[in-house]
Amino acid sequence: MNGEHAMDAVESGIPAWLAATLNYCSRCGAPLRFGPVEGEERQRLACEACGYVAYVNPRLVVTTLPVTERGELVLLRRGFEPGYGLWAQPGGFLEIDETVNEGAMRETLEEIGLVVEPGEIVGVYSRIEAAVVVLAFEARVVGGTPRTTAEALEVRAFRPEAIPWREIAFRTTTWALRDWLRLRHPELHPAAVDAAEA
Ligand SMILES: [Zn+2]
Repeated sequence: MNGEHAMDAVESGIPAWLAATLNYCSRCGAPLRFGPVEGEERQRLACEACGYVAYVNPRLVVTTLPVTERGELVLLRRGFEPGYGLWAQPGGFLEIDETVNEGAMRETLEEIGLVVEPGEIVGVYSRIEAAVVVLAFEARVVGGTPRTTAEALEVRAFRPEAIPWREIAFRTTTWALRDWLRLRHPELHPAAVDAAEA
């Protein structure tokens, strides 16, 4: 059961686009093989030449649900794929030298020009096909000026009852918005939201 190509890892649940990037050992450059590894519960991508095991794990995306003084929620209309033209919260991949709070603040400032203070974690959501885990903070807007960027075609503050449910980019965004609503505006939940999501 050796000599497997990295793409064979797809059947183990690694998305194909990710497996396609895992052909070679990052330590010695020899081909990675997918199969049993001693001491491991599941089959792994490993290097027969040096023994390196290439663990494949989701990456963390940190996001904020920025709330204005008036209690409105700031969303952006995405200027890039995936989800081009649809609404989402600001966020992005956590960098290796950041805390989750720092990453969430940085991404929010970069994407929509707002300075926020992350507060309560609204939720943590898996998007398995994208190999990401999305963390959503509620965040208080404390400064900055909302602005469009290459990443945001439009930045708009929505009243909680006016969230554009039918034009949301990702399920994880829908889940985060729904959980935020449940937290802060239970009177608006759930019938209208569930209907819009269907
Ligand atoms: Zn190696």
